[in-house]
Amino acid sequence: MKPDQYDFIVIGSGLAGLTFALKASAWGKVCVLTKGEVSDSNTSWAQGGIAAAVGEADSWELHERDTLIAGAGLCDEAAVRFLVQRAPDAIQWLMQVGARFDIAGSTLSLGREGGHSRNRIVHHADKTGWEVERAMVAAVRAESNIHVFQHAFVTSLLEQDGRCIGAVAEIDGLGEKRFTARSTLLATGGCGRMYQHTTNPRVATADGIALGLRLGAKVDQMEFMQFHPTTLFHPQMRSFLISEAVRGAGGTLRNHLGRRFMYDYDPRLELAPRDIVARAIEAEMKKHGTWCVYLDTTHLQPETLRHEFPTIYDRLREIGLEIEKDWTPVVPAQHYSCGGIVTDLHGRTSIPGLYAAGEVARTGVHGANRLASNSLLEALVFAVAAAEHSKDDESPSGADGVATTVKSIPEAESVRIRRSLQRAMTSYVGIVRNNEGLNLARRSIEDLIRDYDSVSASPISAHPLETHNLLIAAREVVSGAIERTVNVGLHFNEDLPAD
Ligand SMILES: Cc1cc2nc3c(=O)[nH]c(=O)nc-3n(C[C@H](O)[C@H](O)[C@H](O)COP(=O)(O)OP(=O)(O)OC[C@H]3O[C@@H](n4cnc5c(N)ncnc54)[C@H](O)[C@@H]3O)c2cc1C
Repeated sequence: MKPDQYDFIVIGSGLAGLTFALKASAWGKVCVLTKGEVSDSNTSWAQGGIAAAVGEADSWELHERDTLIAGAGLCDEAAVRFLVQRAPDAIQWLMQVGARFDIAGSTLSLGREGGHSRNRIVHHADKTGWEVERAMVAAVRAESNIHVFQHAFVTSLLEQDGRCIGAVAEIDGLGEKRFTARSTLLATGGCGRMYQHTTNPRVATADGIALGLRLGAKVDQMEFMQFHPTTLFHPQMRSFLISEAVRGAGGTLRNHLGRRFMYDYDPRLELAPRDIVARAIEAEMKKHGTWCVYLDTTHLQPETLRHEFPTIYDRLREIGLEIEKDWTPVVPAQHYSCGGIVTDLHGRTSIPGLYAAGEVARTGVHGANRLASNSLLEALVFAVAAAEHSKDDESPSGADGVATTVKSIPEAESVRIRRSLQRAMTSYVGIVRNNEGLNLARRSIEDLIRDYDSVSASPISAHPLETHNLLIAAREVVSGAIERTVNVGLHFNEDLPAD
């Protein structure tokens, strides 16, 4: 089969992928492959906003300091500086593309989130991601050099003499198609679906991690899995996120007795970094044997709640919760993967021709813990850097690359295997870990991989391939957690000595 030839291939249509596509379209033909509708992405779900030191009393130095503190000594300092210094320009660029952010008077309205020493969260009410994705999709659609294939599930990358030269996708209505290009960007987002409870949408199945690993790309720090402290505890709306900005606006956490328990855990109270708040909630639930804790917003102005958090306000009202009168039941859930495919300041992976940006990448900016609202920023800044670097890449000499494929299995078997994986990850590789649990998780993942391999092959379908990708990525999370012998940032193993 003769491949379609482009200059750039982008896998994924969240903020990282579409940013790269828009930038690279100035230098050549871009093909965007995305497995759902174009806006199916973690990006569309982001609520709080994008961190940038654009306020009068703020500076990139302060943003840098806060990012390094959150990262607990494991950030790559050069990457952090690269990120925070480019943040104001990145916001400007997004506004030029068409994103509308909230304004206070004549300047941007800036929210506050945990771990930030200044108000610096640029936002669009509580649906910043939706607005950013809307603007990016509109800009991409207007660009004739970009061709978007929706429902195009990338099953493998193409390799030629140790270089990535493209990708293979299974496209609804077209079947299998090969694409070649001088540069390929992995922008496949997160891996939350390896857990039972996650804020991530269905598409977050670690595909990019597994695609990269199969080509030999270096992956690191997958053990640093961020759990969002406050997702709704409700049978009909599982894992709906209650943005950190609600705590930033003054929302307080209470246990079932009404006690504001953060006083017992951290002087920064509800605005301590996420891992500390999430661990405090888990400890409080264990201590009292309760299923959840509560977010109290009853002392805030109803008008403020309605105006600043319209999505949260309306969604909770749909299930009978009036946040100006009721406490909202909340629990932590998997939210963000800090680790991923290792990249440099140009978004380059260890494989020539292959770039990665956004949540799939490990740029070094998050270290052991991501500072809130630094991830959309990271997706933007590093996708721009990758596009700028890739303009000088050379085209592949031939088109007959080797595909690194995995077999598909029947969907019923895939559902069974995925559920077992999610149970193991949730039970043993959550907020608080221990040696026995991690070893059990390792054994169970190896068994599940063997199980997958032993089932007979069936026609290609996305669910099983995603399940295989989740297994491969989960193995990295667990091995990273076992190898990490000191508690730091998001990794907390109760069997390790306290320092
Ligand atoms: C509920 C929620 C709230 C959040 N709030 C914030 C916030 O306020 N601020 C902040 O900075 N961050 C926030 N985040 C995190 C942030 O949204 C993500 O880290 C960021 O959007 C990732 O962007 P991305 O472009 O890397 O990936 P995504 O936006 O997830 O896009 C990935 C794309 O890859 C596609 N894809 C995946 N696999 C394949 C495949 N095999 N073939 C083809 N296509 C594929 C997907 O369909 C999707 O289009 C939030 C996340 C969630 C879930």
